[in-house]
Amino acid sequence: MFPARSNEMNMSALHSLIACHECDLLHRVQSLHYGERAKCSRCGALLYAKKRDSFEHTIILALASLIFFTLANFFPFMTFELNGRVQVSLLSTGVQEFFERDMWELGILVLCASIIFPALKILGMLYVLGPLEFNRRPWHAALVFRMVEHCRTWAMMDVYLLGVIVAVVKLSDLANLVPGVAIYSFVALIFTLAAADSALDTHMVWEKMEKIS
Ligand SMILES: [Zn+2]
Repeated sequence: MFPARSNEMNMSALHSLIACHECDLLHRVQSLHYGERAKCSRCGALLYAKKRDSFEHTIILALASLIFFTLANFFPFMTFELNGRVQVSLLSTGVQEFFERDMWELGILVLCASIIFPALKILGMLYVLGPLEFNRRPWHAALVFRMVEHCRTWAMMDVYLLGVIVAVVKLSDLANLVPGVAIYSFVALIFTLAAADSALDTHMVWEKMEKIS
């Protein structure tokens, strides 16, 4: 009996510790008031922060991102006019061009960074945070939330937009370019998704997930 109890106590002591993601120094977790931040005593990196209304803000921004994502993918991105010929392109047209020219690796990379990872990130956020807001734990919540964390690193729509701007500047002398609804939605999506990232309190999500299970 005694070793089991001691083991339990050790586990509970470990449970209240957090490692700095920059320098690995261990800290004891302390409860914070809204707006407060806990920083590493050695390197000053942010350990965790308690954000006010984090769940509500993140859900609203993720819903806005979903609307902009839908508009960005299904409406015209850019219209090219050259010698009377008009060509309308979508967000996916660039990816399609890479595949048609047998540049599979580049096509897959652009498809993942500009469409698949942002979509998984938005849907994953809504799938986990929506039910948690109503004190319900969705199926495989931990797995999906870990995926959201990975997608946050790989969703690089801003890089894609930079590529589009360079192409537009180069082509503007040759053809008349008319930006479509999708390009404005894509820019708005970059901002709403960055704001959702900033509003998301991952520490609180894991805490709530643990309490409900
Ligand atoms: Zn540190």
